[in-house]
Amino acid sequence: MRSPQAAVSTTSEKRDEDVTGGRSFCHIEEKKMKKLPFITKEELEKIAEKYPTPFHIYDEKGIRENAKAVNEAFAWNKGFKEFFAVKANPNPFLIKILQEYGCGCDCSSLTELMEAHALGFSGEDIMFSSNATPDNEFIYANEIGATINLDDFTHIEVLDKLVGIPETISCRFNPGGLFKISNSIMDNPGDAKYGFTKEQIIEGFKILKSKGAKYFGIHAFLASNTVTNDYYPTLARTLFETAVELVRETGVELKFVNLSGGIGIAYTPDQMPNDIKVIGESVHKVYDEIFGPAGLNDVAIYTEMGRFMMGPYGGLVTTAIRQKHTHKEYIGCDACAVNLMRPAMYGAYHHITVMGKENAPCDHKYDVTGSLCENNDKFAIDRMLPEINVGDLLFIHDTGAHGFAMGYNYNGKLKSAEILYHTDGSAQLIRRAETPQDYFATFDFCDVLGDLSGK
Ligand SMILES: *Cc1c(COP(=O)(O)O)cnc(C)c1O
Repeated sequence: MRSPQAAVSTTSEKRDEDVTGGRSFCHIEEKKMKKLPFITKEELEKIAEKYPTPFHIYDEKGIRENAKAVNEAFAWNKGFKEFFAVKANPNPFLIKILQEYGCGCDCSSLTELMEAHALGFSGEDIMFSSNATPDNEFIYANEIGATINLDDFTHIEVLDKLVGIPETISCRFNPGGLFKISNSIMDNPGDAKYGFTKEQIIEGFKILKSKGAKYFGIHAFLASNTVTNDYYPTLARTLFETAVELVRETGVELKFVNLSGGIGIAYTPDQMPNDIKVIGESVHKVYDEIFGPAGLNDVAIYTEMGRFMMGPYGGLVTTAIRQKHTHKEYIGCDACAVNLMRPAMYGAYHHITVMGKENAPCDHKYDVTGSLCENNDKFAIDRMLPEINVGDLLFIHDTGAHGFAMGYNYNGKLKSAEILYHTDGSAQLIRRAETPQDYFATFDFCDVLGDLSGK
């Protein structure tokens, strides 16, 4: 993951004036911006009878509509392709939906490469954007024909020694300094571990060309979770200008520019979501403006969105199992940070709907917690919500990306099931919940735990 500072989000200018930090979001909801789950209480209760909470549930309809909108937004570019960032949500059932829309996979590790390959993605459909890359991952990526996006100048020699330089190769660019849109600082690439400097990329392209590379790509990821339609166009300007300079200096054939990820979603109800159509049109303008005069009219645009493709179309469903009244009012859930780490890790906001109480007044202030022995295991702090009773189902919004995927097993807690809520209203188990046997399975080489490890 990116550094926590990278989780900067620029709030849209259309921010509701009378909304302030500690204020109830129900207040604005009543006015206009209701953030509601994609599924009803009755349907969730039915699913929870069969698959006990907690679980992540995904909205097939939303995933499909969004994937279609992304393709339409970039339809002006003949070679456009979204390589879904597998790390955001590696569930194969969900990736197969995106595959129907022509998406490829952006992989960052051996297992992600293995999964993409097993799902039938061809080499060209797999981007390998990794850093501090181990030898075996370069070897495997090359074996399955994935496009390798080098993170560093020194990796050229490493790759050359391991497997030789492939025909198609990409390099990741880091311009350094601060990344700004207008006057606001979006992020700090100068402090990020990723990418080549400009000088290194020019020199790198020359070396790669001399070693037989024919088709070149350039990639950059300069800000994370950007909630503004200006991120991609601003990044595109930097990359397109750099690309023109690279082609001029090195004479390589530029095949693609990879805008990578970073397109954010509206986690809070007052944020104005990104408009992918506007983003696509704005990138088009910059493309024509910079590539037109340079005669680069065949360059493909690639993206590697994770959050934007999946984030809003997932929710974590958990049951309120305990109430605690001490110095504060607590609601204890059957889910914890193991199922969704973003609030604990980044202090990230995730909206919560108490199912069936969508229209009730938010007149109770709660900390909504999990059961880890970690005081940061809280899905919400001082959140104004309707009164919560033991047994209520809570829907924690926007967990489709970097949700389940960031899970871990601290305190020996187990990872949950994942459910796909189909367009026809049916629910399909797309990952079973972990069992204690899964947790103990890595001791199956010995008998220290007896039967527990399933040996
Ligand atoms: C994490 C990552 C992405 C996806 O980022 P999102 O913010 O989820 O869109 C894309 N490319 C690379 C190289 C990444 O590391």
